[in-house]
Amino acid sequence: MRRPLIAGNWKMNTDRASAEALAAAIADKAGDVAGADLLVCPPAVYMAAVADKLAGSPVALGAQNMYFEDNGAFTGETSASMLSDLGAEYVILGHSERRHVMGETDAEVNKKTLKALDAGLVPVVCVGELLEEREAEQTADVNRRQLLGALEGVSETQVLGLVVAYEPVWAIGTGKVATPEQAEEVHADLRRLLAERYTSEVAEKVRILYGGSVKPGNAAELIGQQNVDGALVGGASLKAEDFLGIATAV
Ligand code: 13P
Repeated sequence: MRRPLIAGNWKMNTDRASAEALAAAIADKAGDVAGADLLVCPPAVYMAAVADKLAGSPVALGAQNMYFEDNGAFTGETSASMLSDLGAEYVILGHSERRHVMGETDAEVNKKTLKALDAGLVPVVCVGELLEEREAEQTADVNRRQLLGALEGVSETQVLGLVVAYEPVWAIGTGKVATPEQAEEVHADLRRLLAERYTSEVAEKVRILYGGSVKPGNAAELIGQQNVDGALVGGASLKAEDFLGIATAV
């Protein structure tokens, strides 16, 4: 069975002191979470400080983005090996804020996914439709295009080392959570796509997280859906109590 993963995406929040305090508070109580794996993704500049606080705890460390080249003249970018060097095991790729605010394309998300896998990082590949795309009944097309795009050239063995996150853009930071049925419909379709692209055995093993206004109060029902294997949490991951509340609700 797929073990749920509860991942916190801190986005461009916290400062050094609050990042350390949040990490320490989560690490301190992580032992109480029996039913899920835990992951936190702080801003890159605080990853080393957060790694110190997580040491010895079961909480994994991840990054929010990376670049697909190994090194060189790419001012402002961070490579996969630099993230590993700081203790990262996961990296969020293709988050909707990167796609829609920074203009990241499916092709770039694909290059980053291949590089992350190559470097031994677990990519958390994000997909999700805009409100106007949902209203135009393009939800399945958009999510399928984004996932297939990210997986171009990714082998059957490699896809087992990857996590997918479905985050409907209209549910991110809006308090407007997808209903469990809306989430399940897309998750089931993405799993069908994985079965078509690879095999049903492979598709059954890949974790597909839901993200978008997940809170302690709605987590159990969302993650209780057959194809929802955890959560990618934004706002509620900035409070240890809420993040752990989500993790213990599953
Ligand atoms: P919120 O939980 O704040 O809606 O953010 C979701 C998200 O974008 C996580 O990556």
